[in-house]
Amino acid sequence: MAPTAPIVNAMSVDVEDYYQVSAFDAVVSRDTWDRLESRVEANSERLLRLFDDCGVKATFFVLGWVAERHRALVARIVAAGHEIASHGYGHRLIYEQSPEEFRADLRRSKGILEDASGTRVRGYRAPSYSITKRSLWALDVLVEEGFDYDASIFPVHHDRYGIPDAPRDIHLVQRSRGALLEVPPSTVRLGGVNLPIAGGGYFRLLPFWWTRWGIARVNQVERWPVIFYLHPWEVDPDQPRLRASALSRFRHYRNLRKTEPRLRALCREFRFAPIAEVLRTAMPAAAPSTVAANAGGAP
Ligand SMILES: [Zn+2]
Repeated sequence: MAPTAPIVNAMSVDVEDYYQVSAFDAVVSRDTWDRLESRVEANSERLLRLFDDCGVKATFFVLGWVAERHRALVARIVAAGHEIASHGYGHRLIYEQSPEEFRADLRRSKGILEDASGTRVRGYRAPSYSITKRSLWALDVLVEEGFDYDASIFPVHHDRYGIPDAPRDIHLVQRSRGALLEVPPSTVRLGGVNLPIAGGGYFRLLPFWWTRWGIARVNQVERWPVIFYLHPWEVDPDQPRLRASALSRFRHYRNLRKTEPRLRALCREFRFAPIAEVLRTAMPAAAPSTVAANAGGAP
């Protein structure tokens, strides 16, 4: 790639419904999920149309629970040229599970997603970025279950997630049973602190210039691809309102009307591709296929 070529960033979507977010765990019990109005399919279709309009391909980290009930949606995502990856099965935080429970959840989601998509699932993102210092064992399980990359370690301070001193760039993680690529959501480093720039609540709650400035800075100064993420419920201003804490309501409902126009503007301004494709370009020496081969026993 020529030094001046525009960087291809990664676009990603965590496919879950509005009532499945971790912030609502205390107010929405899992046994009611099936009885609540489902909006994930329509909202995902909205994102598919937007990406189609802008010529953007993305990685969709689909919750196994959702894929089980919306198999045709998974097929449509694949048919539109996007990558299918796993967001686990039941949206349980990693550090609240045992390794055995996590492995079962992971296997269940991978099986459903590979069956529904007809593709091999190579990537994983934990619910609420819940691979933290106390759940790093999850990386061993991911290697053992054949994943090539993980996108779960947020190098910031947050009440529910984050490893503030984790590397900010895409990097190879060597574990005892093999290696996998870690693909962290993007931050900028200012005054010795990592600040999130690229997605979710940060994209909706902070001024739009912050995201645009941050992506340009990471692309131009560090020459790294940005890993951007959002959720289908973030383009749904009309979703039912749940009775959660004031902080959770603020984080979840604020600026929902701004997500779609901002995302369209972003897709016009920057280049985006699925994570697997960005890894092939940005990390050719450690492309997922290489990692998979190494994990199989090579040195
Ligand atoms: Zn999630």
